[in-house]
Amino acid sequence: MVKEIYIAGEWRLGRGGTIKSYFPADNSVNAEISTASLEDVNEAIEKAEQAWRDPSWRNRLPHERARILYKVADIIETRVDELSRLQTRDNGKPLTETRGLVMSAAATARYIAAACETFNDELTTQRASDFMTLSVHEPVGVVAAITPWNSPIASEVQKLAPALAAGNAVVLKPAEATSLIALELAKIFEEAGLPKGLLSVLVGRGSVIGDAIVKHPLVRKISFTGGTTTGRNLAHIAAEKLITTSLELGGKSPTIVFDDADIELAAKGVAYGIFSSAGQACIAGSRLFIQHKVYDRFLKRLNEITQNLRVGHPEKTGVHMGSLINQKHLESVDRYVNLALKEGGKILTGGKALTDGEYAKGSFYLPTIITGLNNSAQTCQEEIFGPVLVAMKFEDEEDLLKQANDSCYGLAAGIWTENFRRAWKISRALEVGTVWINTYKKFSISVPFGGFKESGIGREKGRLGILSYMQQKSIYMGLNEEPNAWAE
Ligand code: ADP
Repeated sequence: MVKEIYIAGEWRLGRGGTIKSYFPADNSVNAEISTASLEDVNEAIEKAEQAWRDPSWRNRLPHERARILYKVADIIETRVDELSRLQTRDNGKPLTETRGLVMSAAATARYIAAACETFNDELTTQRASDFMTLSVHEPVGVVAAITPWNSPIASEVQKLAPALAAGNAVVLKPAEATSLIALELAKIFEEAGLPKGLLSVLVGRGSVIGDAIVKHPLVRKISFTGGTTTGRNLAHIAAEKLITTSLELGGKSPTIVFDDADIELAAKGVAYGIFSSAGQACIAGSRLFIQHKVYDRFLKRLNEITQNLRVGHPEKTGVHMGSLINQKHLESVDRYVNLALKEGGKILTGGKALTDGEYAKGSFYLPTIITGLNNSAQTCQEEIFGPVLVAMKFEDEEDLLKQANDSCYGLAAGIWTENFRRAWKISRALEVGTVWINTYKKFSISVPFGGFKESGIGREKGRLGILSYMQQKSIYMGLNEEPNAWAE
């Protein structure tokens, strides 16, 4: 049976044909899903416009809007097993990881609910006594939320929760591969009592449906997570329409091991930073810089850890890496490994797909470490989005910063050292949006996230993340009973 999509509060078949959702581990079909047509896009956006302007939503008090999000969090939590299984079927990540993402979505909804109900407008300080000034925050209108396939539900709630809490309506276009989990999320918002029309989930191709959504004149904000090329296109469209964007884009993050690092801690952290999610993470620590004195010792330990990682069926327990999203993506990862070889790199471990037995029908790739390249190599400059780590050497802090900052990206970095002064100094000198010191890939909803340089514009999360879905209005209230005096 073809799955329905969620158009302005109605479940029905989209008018744009169908797509299939595949389980990446064995290529079996999870479901056939209908997709939105351009008419569906128009309808969803027009109804979203009516819904956010409706006084029953516009005037709803923040704590009442928050109540819906608290309920969303509760429902997500009670359904954690089922939702993590569904996500694993959608994108092939191990169940332990998808469970983490589901729990993080619940935590986000709850945190944003609290931020919403405790958010204060401001009485601004006044320099004259005959008027009072206020700064209030209002919704922007219809928000386009466009999400990728690597961390669905978490990245979707990260956009939906603050956008709705701020009083907007949202049209969500999930990645084609992970539409099932996004549709399930719509059911959860519906069950939590979100009024009709405020949310649509339009399944379809990015270049067609995503493009039509962001170009629609009633869409007043784009919140996007995905690749830098797409993000740049969206920024052009936003510039033309003079609307704001939050763009969370690609990365090529350095992870740095100083000679005073705790080698065991660092080796495990570096392996986790690149190989969890099979490297399919914008924040993956894909460029490893090791200080020359510990280069051999560190690499030896990292290699042992890497070779002990279990690549396998994502529904099995004890698996570290599941399948890549699909065969096309695996081929792209493999092309980068071949490029690395052409550029003079050597494979320390991995470097190939797993194709026999239980791996035969999926897209499994071994965790791969490459040595012998310089940071200027194409392999070190472009995002691979797979389980491929390039290990390089550095001499001192100056040399390290030169190499680490030599990237068009600036999403994240890891620093492994026992010297807190050095950690501080290097974290301030790295041109990135997030630094992890003696840890990697840890997230908290209370901490703003976003990139420097071509890794993005704007910040999500944090108590003030909700502000990016609001516009500020200043109000002057005259208190003087006399007419305005003419300026002299
Ligand atoms: P990824 O490499 O993570 O798939 P993409 O940028 O291709 O990154 O995709 C992220 C999201 O953006 C997906 O939901 C995709 O469908 C959507 N998308 C892709 N191209 C466009 C486009 N031209 N306009 C709007 N959305 C798009």
